[in-house]
Amino acid sequence: MEDYYKEQGLLQPHLPKIPAQRILAGQAALVTGANSGIGRAVAEALAEAGAHVAVNYVVGPESAEEAAKAARAFGVKAITVQADVSDEAQVQAMFRKVVAEFGALDILVNNAGLQADAAFDAMTLAQWNKVLGVNLTGQFLCAREAVRQFKLQGVRPELSCCAGKILCMSSVHETIPWAGHVNYAASKGGVMMMMKSISQEVAQHRIRVNAIAPGAIRTPINTQAWSTPEAYNALMKLVPYKRIGEAVEIGRAAVWLLSDYSDYVNGTTLFVDGGMTLYPGFEAGG
Ligand code: NAD
Repeated sequence: MEDYYKEQGLLQPHLPKIPAQRILAGQAALVTGANSGIGRAVAEALAEAGAHVAVNYVVGPESAEEAAKAARAFGVKAITVQADVSDEAQVQAMFRKVVAEFGALDILVNNAGLQADAAFDAMTLAQWNKVLGVNLTGQFLCAREAVRQFKLQGVRPELSCCAGKILCMSSVHETIPWAGHVNYAASKGGVMMMMKSISQEVAQHRIRVNAIAPGAIRTPINTQAWSTPEAYNALMKLVPYKRIGEAVEIGRAAVWLLSDYSDYVNGTTLFVDGGMTLYPGFEAGG
């Protein structure tokens, strides 16, 4: 991280080394799309907080194993599990494998996502279906399996005061319209209403469902937005806090949202966006 900021001649973000608290000790977590970017950082943060972690990936077994190895360094169990989250049979097989390995499931992080950008009138049905299939249907399929498992298990008070937790990775584009990315924005708007509706339905079973909406986080999904000084400076016009976010910051927010510290938080989206949703065009008074 330091090298990147030095090369770009940018101020480094102040990310204090915070001593890890094992607030998820002994819980079993599945993180989808955990061999890259935000998913990997979340998997590591959960492991640092004491959770056993299943690293889902669709391509790239080597990077999935690297992520699992990084998790194991925190003294927890970590496995890799391949599945395309948009495929029902593969998702169900993934859940069977994770429960067989860990004996239970306490946490699902619905993180896998992608973009397939096009001007609206040039967008193909394949681009639309791909993005909705992974970003929205994928989250539905995984959340449904998780809820089925949480209901079977019930509350295990020695681990947590609720029966299970689901964290949906949304985006500031659940609320900010995004020209040229209609499929992506529609998928994240869908994630928001799906997350709230599931939460309303399953809260009575002591299952908590929430979302994080990241703003601009430095990962492979948006390299073109931060990898040159020109692109970075243009991006900063959209960020009142005047720096890009790091994936570890989403990991830290995820640990809190998945722990009993947030037990009374249900159906909420936590924006981690440096103020991107604060109408930055008005920061000088409009
Ligand atoms: P990334 O490209 O680094 O990671 C995406 C991950 O999803 C990869 O591991 C990829 O292999 C996986 N994936 C894609 N299709 C899959 C499938 N069918 N089955 C299983 N896994 C699949 O990007 P990221 O920035 O880490 O994105 C993670 C999530 O965060 C996404 O949902 C994205 O929409 C969201 N997000 C990212 C940003 C950002 O600025 N980086 C902002 C808002 C939201």
